[in-house]
Amino acid sequence: MPTIIEPFRIKSVEPIRMTTPEQREGILREAGFNLFLIHADDVVIDLLTDSGTGAMSSEQWAGVMRADESYAGAKSFYRFEERLIGITGFEHILPTHQGRASERILFELIGGAGKVVPNNAHFDTTRANIEHSGAEAVNLPIAEAAHPADRHPFKGNMDIAALERLLADLGPDRVPCVMLTITNNSGGGQPVSLANIRDARAVCDRFGVPLFLDACRFAENAWFIKQREEGQGSRPVSEIAREMFDLADGATISAKKDGLVNIGGVLLLRDPELLRRASELLILTEGYTTYGGLSGRDLEAMAQGFEEVLHEDYLRYRIRSTAYLGERLLEAGIQIVEPPGGHAVYVDAKAFCPHIPPDRFPGQAVVAGLYREGGIRSCEIGSVMFGGEGHEPPAMELVRLAIPRRVYTQSHIDYVAEVFIALKAKADTLRGMRIVEQPPALRHFTARFEEL
Ligand SMILES: *Cc1c(COP(=O)(O)O)cnc(C)c1O
Repeated sequence: MPTIIEPFRIKSVEPIRMTTPEQREGILREAGFNLFLIHADDVVIDLLTDSGTGAMSSEQWAGVMRADESYAGAKSFYRFEERLIGITGFEHILPTHQGRASERILFELIGGAGKVVPNNAHFDTTRANIEHSGAEAVNLPIAEAAHPADRHPFKGNMDIAALERLLADLGPDRVPCVMLTITNNSGGGQPVSLANIRDARAVCDRFGVPLFLDACRFAENAWFIKQREEGQGSRPVSEIAREMFDLADGATISAKKDGLVNIGGVLLLRDPELLRRASELLILTEGYTTYGGLSGRDLEAMAQGFEEVLHEDYLRYRIRSTAYLGERLLEAGIQIVEPPGGHAVYVDAKAFCPHIPPDRFPGQAVVAGLYREGGIRSCEIGSVMFGGEGHEPPAMELVRLAIPRRVYTQSHIDYVAEVFIALKAKADTLRGMRIVEQPPALRHFTARFEEL
C-alpha cells in the first residue's frame, strides 16, 4: 500500500525556535520541572496536548471572515447549530467556550453531595467538576485497560458488569447519569466499541438512568469502530457517529479536539427541563444561548471543523500518523499503551524507568528527560495528575505524547522518536521527583517539583 500522506498542503507556516540543551536545563529548573509553566516559545515540538492546538483549514479561516458577530441570532450560530444537529441528531445545541464549561453547567444541575457518576475513565476536568459539585467520580474501565501490552481493540470500554453492580448497590437515585468518554483520554486514547455503548445504554434503561457521552473525540472513536468492529467496516463514519449520539441522552464536547478549532465547546441535552435550566445557567455565566461565550467567528470555525473531521481521508491520516509514532517506539523497545491511541501515544513510564517508584513520579521524570534531550513537551498522566490526598493511586504511570491535528509532518514525528530512543539509552540516569508546591485541585497544572 502506498504511504498514507498528509491529506493537505501547507499554506501558512509558523517558525519553530530551536534551543540548546544548556538553555533547556535552565528553563526546566526555573519552571520547577513543570512543563505547563514554561513558555511555548521554548519548546521545539509541543506534544503537551491535542486540545485547541490544531491547524485550521482555509475554509475555516474563510468562515472566520464571513462570521456574523450579532449578539443574538447570528447567522453563524444557525450554521453551527445546523451542522451539529446534522451530525448528532440532537434538536437543541448549546455552544460553550470549551468542554469544561459544558461539564460545569451539567454537574451544577445534576451533581451534588451523595451523587456518584460512573465513567469508563473520567478526564481530569470532568472529575474535578463532578467533585466540585460535591459528587463522587468513579472509573469503571475494563480490566484489560490496566495492562499496557494488552492489545484489546476497544480498550476504552466500560466494565458493564461493574456498572450493573454499582447501579444495583447505589440505586438509580444516587446516580444522576452514566458517562462514557469516547475515546478514553485518561485511559490511553483508546476507543469504545458500539457494542459497549449499546450495552451501557441497555443497563441505563434497566435502571432508568440517563447515559451521557464525553464526546470530545467522537470522530476518532467512530473511525476505530469502522476499522475494528465486526460488521461496521462498510458504514460511513458519519453514520457510526450518529448511532453513537443516538444512544445517548446528552453529551459534553470540547470542540478543541474533534471540532478542529482552537476554542469552543458544546453541550447536548434531550430532556427539555434540563435543557431549560442549562440555558439559564449558560446565560448567567457563559453568554446568550446563540453564542455561549464565543464569537461568531468561533462558531463558524466550529461549523466547518465538525464537518471536516468526519472526512475519511482525514481520519485515515490522523489515526495512521499516531500509530506510526507508536510503532516506532515499540520497535525500539519502548513500552507504550498498545495499540496506539487515536490522538496520542502513551508511554509506560513504570517500564521506562523501573528504578523510580510511583510516589516519586516516574512519568514526570520522563517528561523532564524528553524536554532536556530534545525540547519536546509531553504530559504526565499518572500519580501527578490523578494522585494526591484522598485519591487512589492510578493503575498506570503514563507519559502522553499528544499529536496536534494537522500541525506536524512525518519528519517532526521522526525527530520525536529519535529523541525518545536517545533518552532510552540513558533511562537509568533519570531521577525521581518530589512535589514542593501544589494547589488543592488539578495540581498538575501548577505544581512545582524538585529532583531527588
Ligand atoms: C479536553 C477534554 C475535556 C475538557 O475540555 P476543555 O475544552 O479542555 O475544557 C473533557 N473531556 C475529555 C475527554 C477531554 O479530552
